[in-house]
Amino acid sequence: MRGPVFAANWKMNHGPHDAKAFLRTFLARYARKPDRTVAFFPPMVTIPAVAEALKDRAEILIGAQNIHWEDKGAYTGEISAPLARDAGAALALVGHSERRHVFGETDDETGKKCVAAARGGLKPMLCVGEKIEERENGLTEAVVLRQLRAGLAQLEPGQITTMFIAYEPVWAIGTGRTATPEDAASVHAIIRRQLHERIGAPAMRVPILYGGSVNTGNAKALLAAPEVGGLLVGGASLDPETWLSIVRT
Ligand code: PGA
Repeated sequence: MRGPVFAANWKMNHGPHDAKAFLRTFLARYARKPDRTVAFFPPMVTIPAVAEALKDRAEILIGAQNIHWEDKGAYTGEISAPLARDAGAALALVGHSERRHVFGETDDETGKKCVAAARGGLKPMLCVGEKIEERENGLTEAVVLRQLRAGLAQLEPGQITTMFIAYEPVWAIGTGRTATPEDAASVHAIIRRQLHERIGAPAMRVPILYGGSVNTGNAKALLAAPEVGGLLVGGASLDPETWLSIVRT
């Protein structure tokens, strides 16, 4: 994988019909570009429609927004990595801040989900990030490192080499308040050092994305910051024109 990664987190938006219309507009105007990677994280029910629309565009990746840590069984309402893969996913978001802070997902669960994703043939995109009170109390580094260590705990070095990390400060998600490129660069450097301690030189191959109120106005400066290897975008990925201008950054 070369160049920046642009990941669209649609959250609980865009059913199969909306997604088809979105992709008609997007694909008509987005030429295959070998110098960047685009990924969509649609709602689970939308993955098959997105996979169908992208069948001739294998360079564009599809991911699940969440998975369960077991492969199958009596877990009503849950989706496992093998099920998401069968539907067309190649990636899985793990530990998104809304999973952690709205649904109470724990560090331990993110560790189990990362290993379940890898076991099921999905590349995890582990999300980490501090809350505003943690930042104000000087705890950013401690929180990010704790989440990172827990998420990676059960993964083999080879599995870590092919995954993605996303730094998403909770105070910047959906708030219109973005981290500065300097804020992002300093936390990304902490993440890179920890990856290096864990797996050595291949750590350089792991893209570290920034997420949190990314828009057409700030994408370029964030992407230019040291160690920022891509953008994970919520609100600004929902409209095809806006998303086109971000992936062309
Ligand atoms: P936002 O969401 O771009 O709407 O802030 C980012 C995310 O939660 O992944």
